[in-house]
Amino acid sequence: MSQPSSQLNPAVFLDRDGTINEEKGYINHPSRFRLLKGVPEAIRLLNKNGFLTIIVTNQAGVARGYFKEELVQRVHENMHKQLKQAGAYIDAVYYCPHHPEAGKEPYRKSCRCRKPSPGMIEQACSDLPIDLTRSYLVGDRHKDILFARQFSLTAVMVLTGYGRGEYEYQKGQWREQPDHIAPDLYHGVQWIIAHSRSMEDKTFYEQ
Ligand SMILES: [Mg+2]
Ligand SMILES: [Zn+2]
Repeated sequence: MSQPSSQLNPAVFLDRDGTINEEKGYINHPSRFRLLKGVPEAIRLLNKNGFLTIIVTNQAGVARGYFKEELVQRVHENMHKQLKQAGAYIDAVYYCPHHPEAGKEPYRKSCRCRKPSPGMIEQACSDLPIDLTRSYLVGDRHKDILFARQFSLTAVMVLTGYGRGEYEYQKGQWREQPDHIAPDLYHGVQWIIAHSRSMEDKTFYEQ
């Protein structure tokens, strides 16, 4: 917060399940983690265009006792490996293993990190030099959009995962509309890059 904004980078916060990998319910084994088509290319584009690329994911399966927290970490190691082979990388991963009612302590708690609560982005901002005013979030659920709004992030909803169903059947009840709807992450990232350039031009001409 105290750094001048020129030293801060824009970030793209990415939901995990349904946004970068196939939504299959709980990912309770590394073999269930499958990157969606175009995702390594999309992340590579973010890397090249100077965006910090950060995963923010709820993993309440830990609290529910479906899998251990170590499994979440193994899945993420696997994800990093697959992306690395494709020349892409994620700068940081944050996950919430909690649930307010399910399971046992220490995982059963009303935490600050379960989306749409703001904890994971607050933590990212204390760990990394992020300019939230130029940052984005991509997710497949309306609650991802609510999460983004708390920080005034530009929010993209993808139609992979739960996206298409939520978009077609529930958009009339949404409290917040996304800034853009994309068929998948690759197209969402192309929109983000074009949007961020147009915002830079605007800032330039307004000075
Ligand atoms: Mg999701
Ligand atoms: Zn949590």
